[in-house]
Amino acid sequence: MSHEQALELAESREKQSLLEAKSVELQRVNEAKSSFLAMVSHELRTPLTSISAYTDLLERNRTGNLSEKQVRQLGVVKRNSAHLSRLISDLLDISKIESPEFTLTKTDFDLSEVAQELVESLEPLAIAKDQHIVSISNEKIPIVGDKQKVTQVISNLIENAVKYSPADATITIETLLNNGDAEITINDTGYGISKADQEQIFEAFFRSRTEENWEVPGTGLGLALVKRVVSMHGGNVSLESTIGIGSTFRITLPKLSAATPETGTNTPQVDEEKSEADKAEAMILARRQKMVKLTEQESAANNAA
Ligand code: ADP
Repeated sequence: MSHEQALELAESREKQSLLEAKSVELQRVNEAKSSFLAMVSHELRTPLTSISAYTDLLERNRTGNLSEKQVRQLGVVKRNSAHLSRLISDLLDISKIESPEFTLTKTDFDLSEVAQELVESLEPLAIAKDQHIVSISNEKIPIVGDKQKVTQVISNLIENAVKYSPADATITIETLLNNGDAEITINDTGYGISKADQEQIFEAFFRSRTEENWEVPGTGLGLALVKRVVSMHGGNVSLESTIGIGSTFRITLPKLSAATPETGTNTPQVDEEKSEADKAEAMILARRQKMVKLTEQESAANNAA
């Protein structure tokens, strides 16, 4: 080996070890960020739970001491606590998905049924904004996956379609089999996403800085969760969107997919896991129902105002 070659080799080894050290450092910082998020979210949640509970109690005005105006003001406190609580849940979700404990609990289920149930439970959100929601699912789509997490993914996408579309928009959810793969598309005739923003849309904390968006509360974490969960299932999520026309999010999941490495320890169809998944799913549905109820109350309050 010539002297130059030996020098080059030494240089490239040094670069490599520097890169390795950087990567270990980045991983450490990332882990610290995740545990910080988990800790902060947890610490915020405890006082918020008691704020919500006491506001609920006061708002009932059992003693009759509160004026109508004061009860309305308590309604504002309650709505804002609910908003904070949603933000905290999102923060907890993102710290969880980055942790190694974030694994899938797979069972077999019908994707069309999940979509149908979500459309029914989220329809009031669309109706409150004078939007139309259409569901197209002509066949059963049996898949093996984490039902609770897939439910959350589809729910995030439908909620986004509602949030980022004006009155009169149409939101269409379609499930189908495509060459043996399960496919679900969530299409809206909403504000759309620019080509530049599409590049970053699945990154955690990213939000478009359009005028319509300023009004819409959010954390920019929903799509990061979508991307992570779908890829853990060995699937793919894609986006087609045009400003002023609307957006289509398409998720493809391998039909009856085998466990991916990240889920290797999880055996499908174990009764215990099923009941865990059912419990988690019930929690999500309860959270959605609460959200729908709050939105209904909010629009009733707006109408009354
Ligand atoms: P959040 O809704 O909390 O901001 P998301 O990660 O779900 O977080 O979405 C990130 C951003 O992507 C949103 O802030 C919004 O700008 C944009 N977005 C997501 N879904 C849509 C959609 N269906 N139509 C237009 N913009 C969307």
